[in-house]
Amino acid sequence: MKLQKVFAEINLKALSHNLQIVRKKTGNKHILAVVKADAYGHGSVAVSKHLIENGVSMLGVAFTREGIALRESGIRSPILIFFDRDNADACIEYNLTPVIYDLPSAKKIHTAAKKLNMVMPVHIKVDTGMGRVGMVPDRAVHDILKISRLGNIKPEGIMSHFSDADLQDKDFANTQQDIFNTLIAALKKDGITFRFIHMANSAAVLTMPDAHFNMVRPGIMLYGYGCCEKEKLRPVMTLKSKIQRVRL
Ligand SMILES: *Cc1c(COP(=O)(O)O)cnc(C)c1O
Repeated sequence: MKLQKVFAEINLKALSHNLQIVRKKTGNKHILAVVKADAYGHGSVAVSKHLIENGVSMLGVAFTREGIALRESGIRSPILIFFDRDNADACIEYNLTPVIYDLPSAKKIHTAAKKLNMVMPVHIKVDTGMGRVGMVPDRAVHDILKISRLGNIKPEGIMSHFSDADLQDKDFANTQQDIFNTLIAALKKDGITFRFIHMANSAAVLTMPDAHFNMVRPGIMLYGYGCCEKEKLRPVMTLKSKIQRVRL
């Protein structure tokens, strides 16, 4: 039996539609579109180009090599690298913005940038309860103050990540948000402010308006899947094939 090919059809109109829902939910907040893991399997180059044409401020990927691939495809928008803080040289070479969460990697980036007489923008991640990566809030003020005094690194953003904003019960998500707010207020007292403050993944975009700050980081909802609300998201991918035979 000859097998028919299955193919994935990517519907960019559905992507625009889902982005419009992000806008409807967040107003005029900056959108950092998450395109990690090949845009959740949808093809990161075409998806990213389409999202940029539709006005997103920034793209987010997990690893440096994903950012490099986007640069090599001609994309010039800001790209945030979530989990690869120690690739200072590649970030500088390809104009990628690393997320950092400890002093040693901040110092590495500062040193690399200093050699080139440039100031490297970074975003700082705080662990408010996700338990993955991020500065622990108790030390964060101290460490962020130190980082801001390094001359060749500029904390342009501060961020945190929800562990379970998709649950109906928002207790823990609210606690995380409180910790984040407290930290931002403490830093402000010390004269440290950020151009971008962001915490909201898709679930928080849809259900936690107080967590939108001035930037949001939707991933899965852009591709058409929501967690907890009957928003009319449209799946971007459709798998198609030919029916081989119908037996009645
Ligand atoms: C994957 C990811 C997101 C997007 O999460 P969704 O639940 O897919 O919206 C946002 N921020 C970070 C740091 C991520 O790793």
